Amino acid sequence: MKCPRCKSDLIVVEFHDIELDWCPACEGLWFDSGEMELVTAQMRGTADEQVTQRKADTSEKRLKCPECNKTMEKRLLGDAQPVIADVCPACGGLWLDHGELEQIVSAGGAARDASPVINHLRGTFSNVGGNAPGPAHSTGEARK
Ligand SMILES: [Zn+2]
Ligand SMILES: [Zn+2]
Repeated sequence: MKCPRCKSDLIVVEFHDIELDWCPACEGLWFDSGEMELVTAQMRGTADEQVTQRKADTSEKRLKCPECNKTMEKRLLGDAQPVIADVCPACGGLWLDHGELEQIVSAGGAARDASPVINHLRGTFSNVGGNAPGPAHSTGEARK
């Protein structure tokens, strides 16, 4: 799938058994229908998956759904500090730009430091490149 924002290839990352598509270029995140609620609940450490959604009145450029190519709707997510997300009316998928996930979660009353998910994604991505961190530095002789 291509990033709806910058057209880079999205990579699949796993967060607590939830498969997400992440753009390594602009750090946006694609959620299939219902996944965003699972992730925010997970990050808040609560079973409450409610995230308020309402229609956004904005002139922001509309994006195309990376899944089914329909024009997505702008929706306001969250209450205290709502973010403008792109939601596909056809498949229910949802796109968040960089930092918006943290904003939803921190506005929900969790600790402001909600970036573990992003660190997790970055870590996953660097592992994909085969650059997994090895064991602690060893001074022993190398053996095959
Ligand atoms: Zn992108
Ligand atoms: Zn769609």
